[in-house]
Amino acid sequence: MTRLFGTNGIRGVVGQDMTADLAVRVGRAIGTHFGRGSVALARDPRLSGPMLSRAVAAGLMASGLEVIDLGMVPTPCAQYYVHVHGHLKGGVVITASHNPREFNGIKALDAQGMEMAREEEEAIETVYFEERYATADWSAVGDLRSDPSAIDLYLRGILSRVDVEAIRKRRLTVVADPASGAGCVTTPYLLRSLGCRVLTLNGQPDGAFPGRLPEPTVEHLGDLMHLVVEAKADLGVAHDGDADRAIFVDERGAFLYGDKSLALLARSELAKRGGLVVTPVSTSSVLDDVVREAGGHVLRTKVGSPIVARAMLAQGAAFGGEENGGIIFPEHQFCRDGGMTVAKMLEVLAREGQSLSALAAALPQYSLKKEAVPVPVERREATLEGLVRLVKGRKVETIDGVKIHEADGWVLVRPSGTEPLFRVYAEAKTPERAQALAAEGAELVRRAVKG
Ligand code: MG
Repeated sequence: MTRLFGTNGIRGVVGQDMTADLAVRVGRAIGTHFGRGSVALARDPRLSGPMLSRAVAAGLMASGLEVIDLGMVPTPCAQYYVHVHGHLKGGVVITASHNPREFNGIKALDAQGMEMAREEEEAIETVYFEERYATADWSAVGDLRSDPSAIDLYLRGILSRVDVEAIRKRRLTVVADPASGAGCVTTPYLLRSLGCRVLTLNGQPDGAFPGRLPEPTVEHLGDLMHLVVEAKADLGVAHDGDADRAIFVDERGAFLYGDKSLALLARSELAKRGGLVVTPVSTSSVLDDVVREAGGHVLRTKVGSPIVARAMLAQGAAFGGEENGGIIFPEHQFCRDGGMTVAKMLEVLAREGQSLSALAAALPQYSLKKEAVPVPVERREATLEGLVRLVKGRKVETIDGVKIHEADGWVLVRPSGTEPLFRVYAEAKTPERAQALAAEGAELVRRAVKG
């Protein structure tokens, strides 16, 4: 069957594959799947957000659902609202997360506020493709109301799960860069509640993203790195467009790779209780080292935050997340949460009494090298099978693509979910060895693609 939902909801370029017509039909399909009841609706500040959220709302109401419009809020804020109000059928968020300006998307949430399980998405896809929409009659059409309480509820939830007094005592200076995304309405206020001196960059919600693109990569955070140094701040924090991810800059203005913030937060979370940490197969070994030392263990999954979140729920994990700054604190909720991640990182700084650069420098050090090899979509499966044959007899893991373990490093080769290429990730103790492993991985793909 053709798929409607990708790894992170439905995404497309507005006016091309993401249109009002599509949004109405998706709203109707989700509404049909949910049946009668109430559903939360939210959006990020993208220019097409008001148009698409009204179209989705019309579809949901046409099927008889009451729509509670939370307005422009971060995705994890909407998820928390659904999670706390246990009686909702679920939620819908209009967002394209970290994608460029021209994109938008539709993300469906289940009754716990989690990104929907694949089986539920399939049920919605069946309704959509077979056009088996439930249509309410004139007297049963759903109502629409606004609820402006989601932000306050969310911020109080975060503050209840960190040591507010310890953080306030440190009187940290923080530069927040929400990219003009949904984090503008939460993170600066959260930081102020935590006693920080707050400077904001790209702090006005603006779907044109005038200051920088929404993905918090090193290439996009030059201004933040600069301002952290200029302002003599203790750290900088950047979100993606819907603020479910948080990436940090240390007090020297250096970009802190997501593997390192993940490791620092894992150590802090496990210190209290030990336990299981869930992360995709692509995350750095620094996480294994830190978790082992803290008496916990690591479970590896396929790449994708919904997969990590589901595995955490199923296994009763203490902590989990991805190297892109998407981090999950299960006592708060089973989804990536940029606001919670910021608060927890401030707690780490307050407790350890050291600078972020010193904490990062004390972690085990690895070098990572990434490459990409073009592979036509029609050769994808054959290439994967060829790879498995080529690495026979070696120590491999096939959770997602093929990961080859060597005594002094590893190389992972996996097909991209969105582009006609295979991604190669290699990690080792030295840059030279990482480079050699990446070259070997790329060469294996080139041999496998030929068959
Ligand atoms: Mg996001």
